[in-house]
Amino acid sequence: MRATERSVGAVLGSAVGDALGAPFEFRLPGVFREQFPDGVGELCGGGGWDPGEATDDTQMAVLLGESLLERRGLDLPDIFDRFRRWAAADPKDIGLQTEQVLLGGDPWDLAAALHFQINARAAGNGSLMRASTSAVYFATRGRAETMDAARRISALTHGDGAAGEGVAILHELVRVALLGEDPLAALPATLAEVAPRHRARWATVLAPGWHPDDATEFNGAVWPCLASAVWALRTTDSFEGAVAAAVDLGGDTDTVAAVTGMLAGVVHGAGAIPARWTAALHVPLPGFGDRVLSADDLRGLATALASGPPPA
Ligand SMILES: [Mg+2]
Repeated sequence: MRATERSVGAVLGSAVGDALGAPFEFRLPGVFREQFPDGVGELCGGGGWDPGEATDDTQMAVLLGESLLERRGLDLPDIFDRFRRWAAADPKDIGLQTEQVLLGGDPWDLAAALHFQINARAAGNGSLMRASTSAVYFATRGRAETMDAARRISALTHGDGAAGEGVAILHELVRVALLGEDPLAALPATLAEVAPRHRARWATVLAPGWHPDDATEFNGAVWPCLASAVWALRTTDSFEGAVAAAVDLGGDTDTVAAVTGMLAGVVHGAGAIPARWTAALHVPLPGFGDRVLSADDLRGLATALASGPPPA
């Protein structure tokens, strides 16, 4: 499989997972399979979402990817500005923590840290969910640089280092998969690169025997979110199977399925994403005119990002 096919798989797969899971957010485990007993669901809409409408996960991933391309590299103040402009336009969905950090009026380099000082709980999955574009882009630079970029982008909205380490792990798993290697086999080496004070907790939830029932927090937290996505990848053998398993877990279904779709998309490739899902997919961008991206637009974005940063 060509690497571009995997890059498109990561970006498009995440968006499709997001749109598939959105109508099931905060529903109970098992509701998805109840509605689609054959196990292959549809982008059905509901809960305020049109069929195929992608949520904040994909909207923020697009904004991040466009900044990387237009600024020709990592421009953190520019990413923060784009996020803030989007948040101020009242998107249908936005994470509580992300909203407080972006709209609190503090500068880009202090906002998340200040929020973390006052709020002990800041390890939400909100920086994990938007990582498809940055993971594809920085993969060309190798393990250390992609994990470093992940941490810095995460820290724009999430002051808790646990979230940054989660995004760094996800970036690295995508990088490995883009090379055609097995990201699950890369977990031990990846965990060795995690900041020591966060390593044990990440090793626990990413262990081969971990099951989503073992989670000690709601899957809106970064640990069970990434761990559930890795579990879904590990226990299925298709793109459809992986994202269906993720949505069926209930809870923060759009984001768990967005992260699962990112991993399953890069592993199985864009060709494994059903056309009936990509046909209905669309990504509104509040704050940026009347722009609504299609699956083809996401393919173009992913393909452009796959070249990575220009040489220094
Ligand atoms: Mg969402």
